[in-house]
Amino acid sequence: MTETPATQNSRSYDIVIVGGGMVGISLALLLAEQQHPWKILLLEAQAYQQSDHSEHRPSFDARSTALSWSSRKIFEAAGLWPALQSQASHIKKIHVSDRGHIGLTRIDAQEAGVEALGYVVENRWIGSVLLEKLAATSVEVLAPARVATIKPLKKGVRLILEDSEQILESSLVVIADGANSKTAQKMGIHSNQQPYGQQGIIANIALDKPHDGVAYERFTDQGPMAMLPLPDYQGRPRCALVWTEPAEKAEQLMTASDEEFLQCLQERFGYRLGMLQQVGERHAYPLSLTTSTEQVRRNLVVLGNAAHSLHPVAGQGFNLSLRDVAVLADVLGSARSSGGDFAALETLESYQQQQLADQQNTLLFSDNLPKLFSQSSSAIALGRNSGLLMMDLIPGLRSRFARFGMGMATREAGHG
Ligand SMILES: Cc1cc2nc3c(=O)[nH]c(=O)nc-3n(C[C@H](O)[C@H](O)[C@H](O)COP(=O)(O)OP(=O)(O)OC[C@H]3O[C@@H](n4cnc5c(N)ncnc54)[C@H](O)[C@@H]3O)c2cc1C
Repeated sequence: MTETPATQNSRSYDIVIVGGGMVGISLALLLAEQQHPWKILLLEAQAYQQSDHSEHRPSFDARSTALSWSSRKIFEAAGLWPALQSQASHIKKIHVSDRGHIGLTRIDAQEAGVEALGYVVENRWIGSVLLEKLAATSVEVLAPARVATIKPLKKGVRLILEDSEQILESSLVVIADGANSKTAQKMGIHSNQQPYGQQGIIANIALDKPHDGVAYERFTDQGPMAMLPLPDYQGRPRCALVWTEPAEKAEQLMTASDEEFLQCLQERFGYRLGMLQQVGERHAYPLSLTTSTEQVRRNLVVLGNAAHSLHPVAGQGFNLSLRDVAVLADVLGSARSSGGDFAALETLESYQQQQLADQQNTLLFSDNLPKLFSQSSSAIALGRNSGLLMMDLIPGLRSRFARFGMGMATREAGHG
């Protein structure tokens, strides 16, 4: 990772990535791994301070991410998996239940024939692993830096940064600056937003007994909640909570004392993990399904949350984006090594085409799951209960569901 001298007025790159969250950095790392060296600049709005864990950062905040099997394979190929795995908790079983109804199912890693159904890693750890690796590459990083103007040229794209004289020109710009991307808007690419009217509250919860690698997905009429197994901290078992509630209730929970919060959580979640002991830092995220109106143009790609931001219930947002990243890096690398124009519309469309089915299936799955379980009509409740029961009775169905969650089904269907 090299710092660009602020005095130079004009610089040109093969690829400028706008947004250095989990997705932007992952793309930079996968490209930096390729044989043919790229001239890459990564622009991030906030300063990177690896040691400052108190700062609220969009990608590397107090959340945890359930990484799927497909993400593991991608990180493995990039040489990042050993470091990530050292602080990962293996999901050995997923326990799905519907509060107040009989339906319940368990998905087992052994039954699905895999070592784990997923791996839960704290975002701060993912951040420090990615940043450490980035520092060992030739990718230039400008942080903090924001794009003031972005304009298409005959060949490439020109960017001017806020509070800077610098003019940047790049053959390809990848916009990965998060949901409702300001940079995409500057290019006339807008987003469709369908709010769920819910907030997702996240916090780490200390337990009085081991979680045994079980992830709990609990559907309630107010919204789904997940308790994901985390590695122990100072000898104490912990889970990562993702709790979705209507906005008003979520606000009450955010302002409640720790004791009140734990009491509400215990009442809502039950006692499958014993007595809940302590709650860590809480954050709330407004939830919506947000998709950009376009993902590729000549010399331009919209990626990550800027392209599609999903309900977190199925833990698919980053995993899907990482599959996008892997395919995009492959497509760019192949175009370049075969002497083609890596920023040409046909090249970028071929990336989008390859990821289309995966994106559509994952969006549909993530969107339907919370909706299905938030319906209180008895017919729907009966349907979902029999669905859960059927999954429990038909092992093949359960393992197909598990394979989808692991990001395997879509890859198999899509591109092997
Ligand atoms: C509660 C919750 C739980 C989740 N759990 C999971 C899970 O278990 N598994 C999973 O796969 N996914 C999960 N997700 C989804 C996952 O967090 C997102 O998919 C992921 O963070 C997207 O990363 P990103 O880099 O695209 O966007 P972001 O994380 O939003 O990063 C965007 C970056 O761009 C920077 N930026 C913004 N504007 C500019 C600008 N103008 N110029 C330059 N830089 C800019 C920001 O500072 C930021 O660093 C969860 C999401 C939520 C809300």
